[in-house]
Amino acid sequence: MPVVSLANVRKVYGEDVVALEDISLDIEQGEFVVVLGPSGAGKSTLLRVLNGLTTPTSGEVVINGSPPAARSEVGMVFQMHYLIESMSAYRNALTGALSRTGWLRSLLTAYAEEDKQAALRALDTVGLLDAAQQRAGSMSGGQKQRVGIARALVQDPELLLADEPVSSLDPKAARDVMGYLKRAADERGLTTVASLHQVNVAREFGDRFIGVRDGEVVFDGPREALSMDV
Ligand code: ADP
Ligand code: ADP
Repeated sequence: MPVVSLANVRKVYGEDVVALEDISLDIEQGEFVVVLGPSGAGKSTLLRVLNGLTTPTSGEVVINGSPPAARSEVGMVFQMHYLIESMSAYRNALTGALSRTGWLRSLLTAYAEEDKQAALRALDTVGLLDAAQQRAGSMSGGQKQRVGIARALVQDPELLLADEPVSSLDPKAARDVMGYLKRAADERGLTTVASLHQVNVAREFGDRFIGVRDGEVVFDGPREALSMDV
């Protein structure tokens, strides 16, 4: 059974803004998929229907056998990292555990030992174990994105989504962060979908590329089949 299955997914905002035209695709366990396309193509909408933040106008989305509902099994890495800048990298990574334990419980009880271990392990995966106690606000853009990846890993997701995770970074930092994302996914056998608009960065990291334009899939294939004009 594929981890992700979309059947004839269509998303129309308002009366007539067609963000997704008629998308049908499956993503198998462990695939690292890069969604490519210009601004406005529908990448972000596609990721949002996968995590249940957006409901398709029609069609069906199935994640591991059931409909998505902003579930904790789906980990998100955002373009705007949404870290709490005053907290350490470690405390930020730990907040990933909240989607499992719930905010309320976190106010009442301490984090479980296994969550603390998970946070340290995730920081290690993204090369930030030595910077665990550093304040997020004092970190570089690339380091912040790596903390964002660590936080998503602490969620222990079945599906990892990254919406333009490197678009605010310079090419060197972007490659660096994508390298850690790929490493994290490979290490844990995580099914990953990352949207990117930088083709040069993307082609180094994806196993499978889905090109989107005007809400339609215009390309779906491996790196070797990726031409420069997607
Ligand atoms: P991308 O991530 O590739 O830039 P989006 O999925 O954000 O593309 O946008 C696809 C289209 O849908 C664009 O025309 C955009 O303006 C429109 N759109 C996206 N989100 C909304 C929304 N919440 N309400 C109305 N229109 C939206
Ligand atoms: P839905 O609940 O239909 O999935 P969203 O939650 O994605 O819709 O969007 C809620 C509102 O956010 C939209 O109705 C729109 O007014 C606004 N919005 C967000 N992004 C955009 C965008 N790119 N273009 C236009 N409007 C947007």
